Amino acid sequence: MTTAVDTDLYGVVEDAAAYLYVWALKDIPQDLRDALADAAARETSIPGQRVLNTILKNVQVADDGGNLVCQDTGIAVYTCRVGERFPLHPVRIYQALKAGTERATIEHPLRSNSVHTLTRENTGPNTGYRLPIVHWEFIPDWDGLDVKCVPKGSGSENMSFLKMCVPADGVKGIKQFVLESIVGAGGKPCPPGIVGVGIGGSADYAMYLAKEAIARPIGTRNADPHVAKLEEELFQLLNETGIGPMGLGGDVTVLNCHIEHADTHMTLNPVAVNYQCWAARRASAHIGSNGDVDYDREA
Ligand code: SF4
Repeated sequence: MTTAVDTDLYGVVEDAAAYLYVWALKDIPQDLRDALADAAARETSIPGQRVLNTILKNVQVADDGGNLVCQDTGIAVYTCRVGERFPLHPVRIYQALKAGTERATIEHPLRSNSVHTLTRENTGPNTGYRLPIVHWEFIPDWDGLDVKCVPKGSGSENMSFLKMCVPADGVKGIKQFVLESIVGAGGKPCPPGIVGVGIGGSADYAMYLAKEAIARPIGTRNADPHVAKLEEELFQLLNETGIGPMGLGGDVTVLNCHIEHADTHMTLNPVAVNYQCWAARRASAHIGSNGDVDYDREA
């Protein structure tokens, strides 16, 4: 049975999804703006400087015109943290997120990227079978809902890699795979961006963790000191590769490296890499059980 509260909250979540998708595409977060400005200030190669200054100008033009920072509207990926007492069932939350994605695409309008994987026919306004993608986390003893929208462009998503290292490969094997992946990707994922790394768990979970890692505010460090140390080390090493902005050579290959981890089987050592381009778009909303929405620029 649909209650009045359900109906209201459905509309609130739909509105939030429509707003978040467009907001993320147009107005990049302050930490990303700062990281790009800092990159432009420390880049010493002339082509690299030109690329970074063009990116900064691109962001300014988007701000001035109320336009998108990149034409690739990506795949809408949402992460939902659902309180156990939030009074709208996850089935209805998913429907609302899908409806909001469709509405944003039609009303703005946005480019629709979704196709059937085999026929390549368009499947809807950035929706389709299992699109948008939604990741779920359920929070005990809470009545709220957090929604984060991370539109993921294909240039960077195509540069995703997984390796099932063996335990004997150790941390050295993890570092080697991350470096090989980013060197192999070169300019394809529109660098400099955020390198997300997922370690541990299983093959599928490591890739999920890598995607979680790219959605964090830039330069935040993992709470586990061992993981944070590896983040810092990889960040330095990746910037020594010389790939530079858009692969044209330079000091700034990545804006940062974030790692998420899970404990794993004693005979496993999975490593996943998910790249996020310079247009590292994300936007969040906190929705209360009474329907109040607090949009959050920096989460
Ligand atoms: S990878 Fe990012 S910056 Fe490059 S085209 Fe795609 S969305 Fe745009």
